[in-house]
Amino acid sequence: MAFKLTYATMFNPPEELHKGFDKAVANLKQNLGQEYGMIIDGRDVFADEKWDDHSPFNTDCVLARMQKGNASHAQQAIAAARKAAPKWSHTPWQERVKLVRKAASLIEKRIFELGAAMALEVGKNRMESLGDVQETADLMYYSALMMEQNKGFIKEMGRDPLVGYDATNFSVLRPYGVWLVVSPFNFPFALTGGPPGGVLVAGNAVVIKPATDTAWIVRLYAECLRDAGFPDGVVNFVTGPGSTLGQALVDSPEVDGATFTGSFDVGMKMYRDFAGRNYVRPVVLELGGKNPAIVSRNANLADAATGIVRSAFGLQGQKCSAASRVLVEEPVYDELVGRLKEMTEKMAIGDPTERATYLGPVINQNSYNDFKNFTEEINQGGGRFLTGGHVKTGGLFDKGYYREPTFVTDLPFEHRLWKHEMFVPITTIGKVNNLDQAMEIANSVNYGLAAGFYGSLAETNWFFDRIEAGVTYANRPQGATTGAWAGVQPFGRWKGSGDSGKNGGGLYYVQL
Ligand code: NDP
Repeated sequence: MAFKLTYATMFNPPEELHKGFDKAVANLKQNLGQEYGMIIDGRDVFADEKWDDHSPFNTDCVLARMQKGNASHAQQAIAAARKAAPKWSHTPWQERVKLVRKAASLIEKRIFELGAAMALEVGKNRMESLGDVQETADLMYYSALMMEQNKGFIKEMGRDPLVGYDATNFSVLRPYGVWLVVSPFNFPFALTGGPPGGVLVAGNAVVIKPATDTAWIVRLYAECLRDAGFPDGVVNFVTGPGSTLGQALVDSPEVDGATFTGSFDVGMKMYRDFAGRNYVRPVVLELGGKNPAIVSRNANLADAATGIVRSAFGLQGQKCSAASRVLVEEPVYDELVGRLKEMTEKMAIGDPTERATYLGPVINQNSYNDFKNFTEEINQGGGRFLTGGHVKTGGLFDKGYYREPTFVTDLPFEHRLWKHEMFVPITTIGKVNNLDQAMEIANSVNYGLAAGFYGSLAETNWFFDRIEAGVTYANRPQGATTGAWAGVQPFGRWKGSGDSGKNGGGLYYVQL
């Protein structure tokens, strides 16, 4: 069977992937530092103010010069989308599907170049970087497939004899108009690219606003859409601070709906601000997580340790679905903790473009400082560092935002960091007397994003029935709480992790 790259298969890729990636990194390094515009109404648009986008693993390295867009650019992008929306919405859905597929195939063709840029800009290791790009293409293909399988969501309804006359009724999927997509730094490709896949096949025009830390890679995504040939104004891309440009997009009454992926606080603010128009507007929120992995006394501990380490420290703990809490039944606690320590101490930290590297840097100075503050708080709160707990210094580490992968034990369950999303490579481990206690703790947070379980089949069913999370896994060495994939494991959310059941890569995503 041909190799299919996903977050579950990425641990053992074929040699061609490494070769392609190495070549792309070498090429890209020759061309760093170029200036990139925003894309509004099909044209490159430049702002008076710019910023230099630095790599988090070598802050001396300028990757690209980007535009510091402002409220007026927000208005221009929305106006362009508004102008393009009517024609696009009346374009036959089959043609919209064709263009979305074409964009997805361009993304696949450029996977090495895009993966290399991702590693340089986000600090993801090479397989995570390539995975993010492939996931984007697959999310777009999946929305196209959903549209096709449902024949454009145009369906003749039943003829109800009770109405007393012969009537023909159709249910049709109509677009909203202008859709805003605001994305986070950690999956800048998939979480910028997945939502437009669904929104565009459904006939909306979009305005995309990436995180400032990852504006360059999202520009490369926008180029894939531009090169696929979407009509001018159907896809617009603006860059600049969330607090000004982003807020102007949210505040505009000319935006008809939005997908926001990011932190709880910013998302909730957006949710409230979005209610400021004279009628309700749809907003899909994909927010933070505090994801538990529960390990029963009957678990396969080798699988549990592998899955937990991968989910705790993949992308340096900066995944919304990262396993940030581990709850272990007392009889297997010591053995599991021993395995976690041994595996974590073997993890390679370094330049994320290098083949051997598993952990790169955290994204920026703020995250770097957060780590320091959290470790101090843990120390004071009675926690012990099973692994890590420090910055990495010397050589390459002095140039980037490097932190050690950190497992914490003995932190009392009452401590606030058991409930707070830290978003750095720190995971707390707790000993529980039984699975009921584990479940109570697992569900005692505001979030409900991802959760994992290791135990017997009967216990697994018990877990699925009770856990409050949008995406759940059991007995998975590939990742305790991470690894969703379009069409295979839809990415849902519950409670403070999001506002709808329109799971990304699932059956209901196109019909927002
Ligand atoms: P932030 O909430 O800081 O930022 C997300 C986006 O919002 C960025 O593009 C940011 O722009 C923008 N933004 C900031 N302020 C405003 C504003 N007032 N109006 C409009 N837009 C604004 O999140 P991070 O980028 O730090 O991402 C990490 C967070 O995302 C974590 O909490 C993580 O759990 C969550 N996440 C959730 C996922 C899910 O599917 N549930 C998936 C991935 C991440 P700028 O960068 O310019 O400030």
